[in-house]
Amino acid sequence: MSSATLAHFRAGRAWRIDGWQADAALGVDADGRLQASAEPAGASLGRWVLPGMPNLHSHAFQRAMAGLAERRGHVHAIFPDREDQKAAIPGRISQKSEDNFWSWRETMYAFAATIGPDELKAIAAQLYVEMLKAGYTSVCEFHYLHHRPDGTPYAPPQAMSLALIEAAREAGIGLTLLPVLYISGGFDGRALSARQRRFGHGVDDYLRLLETLRRQQGDEVSVGIALHSLRAVPEPALREVLASGLAATGPIHIHIAEQVGEVQDCLATRGARPVEWLFDHADVDARWCLVHATHLTAAETAQLARSGAVAGLCPTTEANLGDGLFPLADYLDAGGTLGIGSDSHISISPVEELRWLEYGQRLATRHRNIAARREGDSVGETLWRSALRGGALASGRPVGELRDGARADLIVLDEASPLLAAREARSLLDSFLFAGNTPLVRHVMVGGRWQVRDFRHRDEERIARRYRDVVDSLEIA
Ligand code: ZN
Repeated sequence: MSSATLAHFRAGRAWRIDGWQADAALGVDADGRLQASAEPAGASLGRWVLPGMPNLHSHAFQRAMAGLAERRGHVHAIFPDREDQKAAIPGRISQKSEDNFWSWRETMYAFAATIGPDELKAIAAQLYVEMLKAGYTSVCEFHYLHHRPDGTPYAPPQAMSLALIEAAREAGIGLTLLPVLYISGGFDGRALSARQRRFGHGVDDYLRLLETLRRQQGDEVSVGIALHSLRAVPEPALREVLASGLAATGPIHIHIAEQVGEVQDCLATRGARPVEWLFDHADVDARWCLVHATHLTAAETAQLARSGAVAGLCPTTEANLGDGLFPLADYLDAGGTLGIGSDSHISISPVEELRWLEYGQRLATRHRNIAARREGDSVGETLWRSALRGGALASGRPVGELRDGARADLIVLDEASPLLAAREARSLLDSFLFAGNTPLVRHVMVGGRWQVRDFRHRDEERIARRYRDVVDSLEIA
C-alpha cells in the first residue's frame, strides 16, 4: 500500500501494548488497516486515543429483555396475557422457588420464542450502536437462535445468522459470528425440550451451516465455532466437530463451569469437572475461549492459564445471574489470558465490566487493587490491556492493538470532560475505569471509518426508531 492512499492522523497520546505513546502518528489505509505514518501534519484525533475494546461474548436478542427478570417469581410476569407463553412455563418454577440462573433461563426462553429474523436484526443493530458508543468496536456473537420456534428451519436455514451479519454491517461494528452447536438438553443426553428445539442441529447440519457462513467472511466479519456447553454437546459430537477441517481455523468458544449445578452434573455423568473434562478431551489452546469458567479448582485455574486459552469473563451478567466469582488473582498470577463480554446485555459498558471484575474481588477479599499483581501497577491499565489482548484472541481478528496491520478500530476519549481535567497518562485509565460513569467515549472509528462522532452514531435515530417499533410489537408486559 503506497503512502498516497493513507489517511494520516496524530494522537496526543495513543495506547500501545506497553503503555502510552506521546505524539503518535497513525496511518489508515484504504482497507481500514493501521499503517505506520511518517506524516508530521496528520489530522489530530484528540488527546487520548485507545484501541477499541472487543466484546467477546454476546447473545444479541437478550438486550431486549434487559430489566424484565428482576422481579421475584418473575417468570410469570413477562407475557401474562399470552396463553402460549403461560403453557410453556414449567410447573417447577413456583412463586416460592428461589430465583436463580435456571429460573432466569425460563424467562429468557419465553422471550426468545418471540424473536424471528426481522426482530433479531432490529434488536442487534440497536445493541451494536450502543456497544460502539460505549467503546466496543467488535463483538463475538454466540448465536444459537437458529430455527423457527417450533424447530423447523427458516428459508434459507441461515436466515437468523444473516440477520446478525446485516445488523453488524448497519451499525458498523466488527463481527465474529459463532454459530452454536446445541444437541442435547442435559448431561444425560436427553432430547431438547420444546423450547430448546429451535437451537438444535445434528453435526452434519451444523457443519453445513458453518461452511455456508464462512463464505460471508471478509474484513469485518469472521466465522468461528461455538459449542454451547458440555451439557449440550455429547462427547462423540464434540470429537467429530473438532476433527473436521472447518475447525482447523478460527476461534472456538464454549460456555463452561458457570453454575455449580453444571459442575455437579458433569462430575456425576462424566466423572470429571467441566474444565478438567474438556482438557482431557480436546487440545485446548489460544484459539479457545472458555466463557465464564467461574467455578474452578486451583488445578483447573493453573491449567487454563497455562493453555493460553482465553477466560471469557462477563462480570455484569455473572453478577446479575448470581453465578459466582472467577478466581482472578490466582489466574493472573499463573499468567492467564482474559477478555470481557456483555453476554446478556444487562449492561453495555467495558468500563462497567472491568470495574465489576475488580470490585467483586475486593468485596470478597476485603483488599484493594487485586488485578494489579506487581507493586506500582495500575488496575485500570492492567485490566484494559488484558481485555484487549484476550478479546482480540477470542475474536480471531487483528484487533485490540494500535499496530501496523491491525484493523483501525479506535476510540477517542472526551478530553473536555471535567473528569479528565488534571489527569496525566499514569492515572488516565484508572479514572476512566473507576469514575467514568458519564460517557467519556467521544469518537469511535471501526476499520478506518468513523461510526461515532461527538457521542452520536451516524445512523442512531433510524436504528433506534426501528428497534422501538419492533419491541413494541412484541407486547411485552
Ligand atoms: Zn452466554
